[in-house]
Amino acid sequence: SREWHLVARPHGWPEAEDFALREAAVAAPAEGRILVRNKYFSVDPYMRGRMNDVKSYTPPFKLDHPMDGGAVGEVIASNAEGFAVGDHVLHGLGWREIAHVPAQHAVKVDPDLAPLSAYLGVLGMTGLTAYAGLFEVASFKEGDAVFVSGAAGAVGSQVGQLAKLKGASRVIGSAGSDEKVKLLVEEYGFDAAFNYKNGPVRDQLKEAAPDGIDVYFDNVGGDHLEAAIGALNVHGRATICGMIAQYNATEPTPGPRNMALIIGKRLRLQGMLVGDHADLQPKFVQEVAGWLASGELKYQETVVEGIEKGYDAFVGLLRGENTGKMIVSLV
Ligand code: NDP
Repeated sequence: SREWHLVARPHGWPEAEDFALREAAVAAPAEGRILVRNKYFSVDPYMRGRMNDVKSYTPPFKLDHPMDGGAVGEVIASNAEGFAVGDHVLHGLGWREIAHVPAQHAVKVDPDLAPLSAYLGVLGMTGLTAYAGLFEVASFKEGDAVFVSGAAGAVGSQVGQLAKLKGASRVIGSAGSDEKVKLLVEEYGFDAAFNYKNGPVRDQLKEAAPDGIDVYFDNVGGDHLEAAIGALNVHGRATICGMIAQYNATEPTPGPRNMALIIGKRLRLQGMLVGDHADLQPKFVQEVAGWLASGELKYQETVVEGIEKGYDAFVGLLRGENTGKMIVSLV
């Protein structure tokens, strides 16, 4: 079975030489474990942070060890109660063809309820991030005007649509291509959207949100955050979910220059980690599955075929080659 190892810590943008696809022996499952043939695995922006040797909320990847992350697959051997050959499971040992998974870290998923890949995206980690980040962390309420960056990505496209479904007065998104901007307005029902590469975020946001915004969902940081602080109304709230614009930076990046506005406008900027919101999972799945079934919530995935494309998929994600969730398919 093949698996991706990190072999050197990237400095700046990850390079192909920092990774290796290696062959590993497959053992029968030990007591309490299952053997899973992965069908899809997730590549996510947070993995870039795990490639650095720094203390963070998740431990760094070990050099010359398989990387890990979200995956779904089929049980091919079981030595654990409650799991049988043929079951489909979501687990945390991605980046490999066959995973030797402790059963307590596997969750059964139903391939008849949703396509398996959806459990990595719209019904999975990124979906819950959008749901919790908007409704709980940002204390979204009906009538709010919402701005989301990274809006054509997995989290962002769901944030914008959830806000519309729950009665936002206006939803604005930013993304990195004119094609993505078109998708936001025409497919996902955003009221306005702009390409951040076409001009200063501050000016484009002002035009898209002439009455300001009440909620900012930050996936990007940098100029986007500064512009949002400028556009937030009194008692506005921001969910600080991600800062992808700086994940490959080799020097500390400058912060927003307008932080003093937080005082007079009594803004609340709140960081989040999706792992803190597991209690919302049942409500999230129930509500989102309903909107998917009714067609009120749409999603896209960018599926890259073949384990040998794992590195390309990951770097492609950082470059914006994805629309919606970026997934590697092994089927
Ligand atoms: P996406 O599907 O949004 O993919 C990443 C996107 O980021 C790319 O498609 C690209 O789109 C955009 N991007 C890349 N570089 C830049 C840049 N310099 N400026 C602006 N946009 C850029 O990924 P996810 O939905 O998985 O994640 C979105 C964000 O949420 C990330 O910041 C991630 O770290 C964060 N996150 C945080 C979690 C938490 O618990 N706090 C959990 C999950 C995700 P474009 O073409 O528009 O540039």
